[in-house]
Amino acid sequence: RELPGDARVGGPIRQVLNACYSEVSPSVFVKNPELVAWSRPVAELLDFSLQEFERSDFSMIFSGAMKLKGSLPYAQCYGGHQFGVWAGQLGDGRAVTLGELLNSKGERWELQLKGAGKTPYSRMADGLAVLRSSVREFLCSEAMHHLGIPTSRALSLVTTGEGVERDMFYDGNPKIEPGAVVCRVAQSFLRFGSYQIHSARENFDLVRKLADYTIKYHFPDLENKFQKMRATEDFIDGDQHISAGNKYAAWFNEVAERTAILFSKWQCVGFTHGVLNTDNMSILGLTIDYGPFGFLDAFDPKYTPNTTDLPGRRYCFANQPDVGMWNIMQLANTLLSAKLISTEEAQSGLERYADKFMDEYQQGMTKKLGLKEYDKELIGKLLNNMAFDKADFTNFFRALGNITSSLDCPDDKVLSPLKGVLLDLSKERKSTWIDWLSQYRKKLVLEGQSDAERKVQMDSVNPKYVLRNYLCQSAIDAAEQGDYTEVRQLLKVIERPFDDQPGMKKYARLPPAWAYRPGVCMLSCSS
Ligand code: AMP
Ligand code: MG
Ligand code: MG
Repeated sequence: RELPGDARVGGPIRQVLNACYSEVSPSVFVKNPELVAWSRPVAELLDFSLQEFERSDFSMIFSGAMKLKGSLPYAQCYGGHQFGVWAGQLGDGRAVTLGELLNSKGERWELQLKGAGKTPYSRMADGLAVLRSSVREFLCSEAMHHLGIPTSRALSLVTTGEGVERDMFYDGNPKIEPGAVVCRVAQSFLRFGSYQIHSARENFDLVRKLADYTIKYHFPDLENKFQKMRATEDFIDGDQHISAGNKYAAWFNEVAERTAILFSKWQCVGFTHGVLNTDNMSILGLTIDYGPFGFLDAFDPKYTPNTTDLPGRRYCFANQPDVGMWNIMQLANTLLSAKLISTEEAQSGLERYADKFMDEYQQGMTKKLGLKEYDKELIGKLLNNMAFDKADFTNFFRALGNITSSLDCPDDKVLSPLKGVLLDLSKERKSTWIDWLSQYRKKLVLEGQSDAERKVQMDSVNPKYVLRNYLCQSAIDAAEQGDYTEVRQLLKVIERPFDDQPGMKKYARLPPAWAYRPGVCMLSCSS
């Protein structure tokens, strides 16, 4: 049911009530679509034969210009808290789901075209996406997956051959950019905001229905467990924090846990999402909705890739774990209002988030240092030192794997593997690092692992290649000129982030001077 616009939420927003989605077909205007890149592992995941990508109609279908046989396309209705403020109905304003595909393993994958034209949720915007942001989403989805971080995937990236108007810096000078469509893939794109919207409208029945659906299709272990419990009336649960018998509480707990795992992985790899609004929080604990994200180059806890988030820095790197908690709290409020969980159950889910985050983060950081036992003081000092010297986050940890643990090695020699990442070392800083390294090496000796073994283990968790903004920018600049080789090359490199990849060393370099010029690598929500 549609109602006229609601002036309270800033404009004529067409409200879609009593529905989780609206049927809508892609409506993007396509002139001369070109396949920029596609991901082989995602094609395999979907059981696509590789010839599909050579078909002349592939880019027609995956730009949304031609209907995919058997699909029942729709856009999702959801709401969300944007920058801490309830924003009402948002929804898929430019993403159209083609449908779900069951692969040969029985896995359910949702295929979604992003940038495929207006939907009932487009509000004032055009429903389109530009090549710049589509290259970023395509590459980063795959980069994150290969780093071992839960994420939506990307099957293909197609240009539309049409121009899209964007005012990237809100300076009143719009630019025409090439349009593009990414086919993104996930088991589900349900978000915290998918539940929040119905609860905000006091449509609690729908919250319950959607929760039931989610558990049934996406948390089958929980579904089975509670089916069995109902059958045997055996309501004993190993985890005393969860009230036995409430599947919604168990579900909330698992969402909290998955979110904690996801956020800990971001912190360990130096990833900043950029827009952690509750509409961008996957219910499956995936990284979704790639916009103004960024990997840390020089370590700065306050790093905020999204210029729209300045000067507040709500979503800066170091704030992410707290933001995760705040977002989980909003989901808890939704389930509380719908009376699906009790206050105690909400509380224990929040505690679960905090505990799980700390466990995973501590374990993750311990592994990054090649240690077996967590050492709070050692890691705290390291991060302080790295921030002070603006050490490159990725290259520092990779280089740390080359440190000798031998206690009789002369100081200068010990420090030498870090020379490339600690630029401009003063005498004072040098002695700070030598102090830290001797504390670290004593710990290594105590744990007794060989240097060679430790390096192998550290290299398997400290990537050599991450999708730095400047690398993305170079690939975008070339793609905007019609040259897609750099996008394809970069995709190959980020598919093996932990391997040394001889010949690809340039992709592990620190950002060049041009990347720091004002405006060059600047990112905003405008995509
Ligand atoms: P985001 O900040 O990208 O997560 O987007 C927030 C909301 O704005 C979502 O509901 C998007 O679907 C919508 N949105 C963003 N860009 C566009 C666009 N160009 N056209 C229509 N809706 C958009
Ligand atoms: Mg979004
Ligand atoms: Mg976005």
